Amino acid sequence: MIELKSVSRLYRSDEIETTALHDISLNIRRGEFVAVMGPSGCGKSTLLNIFGAIDRPTSGQYLFEGVDLAARNEAALARHRARHLGFIFQSFNLVDDLTIAENIELGLLYRGGRSGSRRALVEAAMDQVGVAHRARHFPHQLSGGQQQRAAIARAIVGQPDLILADEPTGNLDTENGAQVMEILKSLNAGGATIIMVTHSPSHADQAGRRVEILDGRLVASVAQAL
Ligand code: ADP
Repeated sequence: MIELKSVSRLYRSDEIETTALHDISLNIRRGEFVAVMGPSGCGKSTLLNIFGAIDRPTSGQYLFEGVDLAARNEAALARHRARHLGFIFQSFNLVDDLTIAENIELGLLYRGGRSGSRRALVEAAMDQVGVAHRARHFPHQLSGGQQQRAAIARAIVGQPDLILADEPTGNLDTENGAQVMEILKSLNAGGATIIMVTHSPSHADQAGRRVEILDGRLVASVAQAL
C-alpha cells in the first residue's frame, strides 16, 4: 500500500541544517497495524507527516498504491487526504464551539455527499466508538477518553483506508488508553491500515509490527506475534 524509498527530510534554516529523516526505506501492506517508536526528536512526526501527505521528502520517494505523491500539487494532495486518510492526534483537536456530531461531520468536509447520507455516516461512526449519547454535547462536556473516541469517529467517518495516529493514548489514563487501543484494533480487524506513533511499549506490543526510529534512521522493523 505504502512504499518509502530512501526517504530523507532536511530542514534548513540560515544557520543550521537538521536531518529529520535519513534514507528511510519501508513498505507497509494494506491491512497492517504498525507502531512507530523512538525518543523525542527522532523524526516520528516528520515521518507521519510524510505518510499523511502533509509534508514531502527532500529526497527519495513516497508511493501510495504505486503512485508517487511527490509529483502531485496541493489540491491533488488535499483530495488524496480526504479520500484515503484519517488523522488522530494526542490532544484530540476537536473544535470547542461545535457539538460532537458537528465535529465528526467535519471529517466529511471535503467529501461532499447529501446531508441525509452524511448524517447516517456520522451516526454510524458515533455508534462505532460509543459516543452517540453525547452527539449534542460540546467537547468540554466530555471526558478525555470520550473526546478521543469522538476524534476517532471524525477520523473514520469518511471510511479512510489509512489511519494515522500520533500518540493517540498519550493524554489518556490506563483505562481510556486501553479503550482507544481496542477501537483501533477493531478498525484494523475491519480492514483499515493503521500507523500509530506511541511512547507506550504495551500499546506498541498490540500492533502487528513495531518500527523503531533513532536520530532519523530506521533501526528496527519487527513483526510481532499477537
Ligand atoms: P519526533 O516526532 O520524533 O519528536 P520530529 O519529527 O518532530 O521528531 O523532529 C525531528 C527533528 O527535526 C528534530 O530534530 C526537530 O527539531 C527537527 N524539526 C522538526 N520540525 C522542524 C521544522 N519545522 N524546522 C526545523 N526543524 C524541525
